[in-house]
Amino acid sequence: MKTCIYCRQKKEIKKFSLEHVIPQFLGGSQAPDSLKTRDVCIDCNSNLGLFVDAAFEKDFMVFNQLSEVAYSLFDPKLTNGLPFRCMGICDLSPPDMKADEVCEYWLGPLGEQVFWVRPHDDQKYWYTGGNPRTVKKIRSKAYFMFSNRTLKAPEISWNAFKDVFIGKKVDKIMCTIVDGADPKTIEFSEPNELDLKRISYFQSNCSNGQERKNKVSMYIDFDIRFLAKLAIGLSYVYFGKDAIVGSAAEELYKALWFKPNDEKPKIKGAGAYNQNDTFLKQECGVDFGTTISLIPTNGHIALNLNINRKLNWLISCTESERVSPDLVDSLGFGKCFILVKPLNKVIELSLGELLAFNDGAVFNSELEEIKNKVNAHRGFFANL
Ligand SMILES: [Zn+2]
Repeated sequence: MKTCIYCRQKKEIKKFSLEHVIPQFLGGSQAPDSLKTRDVCIDCNSNLGLFVDAAFEKDFMVFNQLSEVAYSLFDPKLTNGLPFRCMGICDLSPPDMKADEVCEYWLGPLGEQVFWVRPHDDQKYWYTGGNPRTVKKIRSKAYFMFSNRTLKAPEISWNAFKDVFIGKKVDKIMCTIVDGADPKTIEFSEPNELDLKRISYFQSNCSNGQERKNKVSMYIDFDIRFLAKLAIGLSYVYFGKDAIVGSAAEELYKALWFKPNDEKPKIKGAGAYNQNDTFLKQECGVDFGTTISLIPTNGHIALNLNINRKLNWLISCTESERVSPDLVDSLGFGKCFILVKPLNKVIELSLGELLAFNDGAVFNSELEEIKNKVNAHRGFFANL
């Protein structure tokens, strides 16, 4: 028997599985083994993945910032797909849409448009792409419109489309006629009568130049549970089991199991919406990925999470007195992990080195190399 670090229940050893404390959507699968643990039960691993990690990942702002990294590091010689960007729920109402359905609008790398008619979900309304459980259970329909540029690099379009829709219970309908290509060979279905009505609706309402009004739903507390989970997980793997007990840890547990009507947990720090500290946003991150920093402060070890120097969160991870002085010393002024998912890279460096890099003062060859790749291929799109 052992105890799960998230639900704190004692369970049989066979009921545990490998947990990436830094989740894979941020690039955590490349993180060193020291940031993984087997002390998380299978139930937490799967449920918190779906409802805590995904709540964060699929928030509109986070989702589009993570997509941005893939665009800025795009290399036509590599096959890594470019993501579609979610533009929110659109104002269109294609024929015979049910009252409990929405039409979500997605834009592809070459201006392709996708209109995804899917069930609306009251509980997970802010998830781009809807509730992952519902999407697996209920069949929906995605209408795909090529742009004029698609044909110049169709594999880019196709890879992007595949990443969003393949493997999901989605009927994929092609709204554009492509000379010489049979949509059925690339998993598009034959349109039925309803689809034909909708295709002509989309064709007449969504040609170039027409203005669209999209609605984005946000859940203001989308980040609380995720930040608490990350703080508990990192405290545990980095500082050991004593770091996840005590009054500060109790607040993190309240936050991890937070429900919308609960009293707000008293976590020290600030979230993305109420933070005015532009210093951390600018200095504790890079333009091309996610930076996670552990920073010793007065009495606490702070966890700073930064995405592309655009989004930043700072919370208390644990109290310094719960961590052995040697470990606190080993952090120096702060320790950072930079995750660059499209390149499968995780770079470890000190906060001092990161500040110097952002200041242009010190040459860090790994970071410099990536920085030089940023936007190196933007011209590829302009020339298409
Ligand atoms: Zn558990």
